[in-house]
Amino acid sequence: MAEHGHCLCKNIEISVSGQPLRAFLCYCPDCQRSAGGPCQAVAAFKAEDVTFLDRRRPGHADKFVPFTNLELNDSPSLTTYVIPGSETASGQAKPKVFCNGCGCTIATVPAKWGGKVVVIRPNLFDQGLSAAPPKEEWFVKDRPSFVFGCMGTKVYDEIPDGAG
Ligand SMILES: [Zn+2]
Ligand SMILES: [Zn+2]
Repeated sequence: MAEHGHCLCKNIEISVSGQPLRAFLCYCPDCQRSAGGPCQAVAAFKAEDVTFLDRRRPGHADKFVPFTNLELNDSPSLTTYVIPGSETASGQAKPKVFCNGCGCTIATVPAKWGGKVVVIRPNLFDQGLSAAPPKEEWFVKDRPSFVFGCMGTKVYDEIPDGAG
């Protein structure tokens, strides 16, 4: 797949190639709080398959770069909030990268995968969530009772073995 997307204010654009490693809905309380709904929809990609551009970065108006710490630090439109490992299901820190112009979450780069995996929200894509439909549902134990879930997914009480 090759997809293009942007945040609400369009200061940040993303570009993705290759297939998602996983695409899933997560109902954990952190995701519910952050997404403002019953779950967060995400897709994990190999880091080399995902790039972003920051319109406000001098000289980078049309330059896509990878989600490395170096590029993130130099991007005026992106702010990173790190969920400490003591508060995540995996026990590893989870840096959440968001646009400070409009508040959209752009990516999560879980410490567990050493920067090799970038998790993004397919809702940002021009094609929307249909570009990477969820195949799994995580933390179904926290799914609100009035939500019936998604068609054709594998469900997990918490997270699949080895994931997270
Ligand atoms: Zn924005
Ligand atoms: Zn979650």
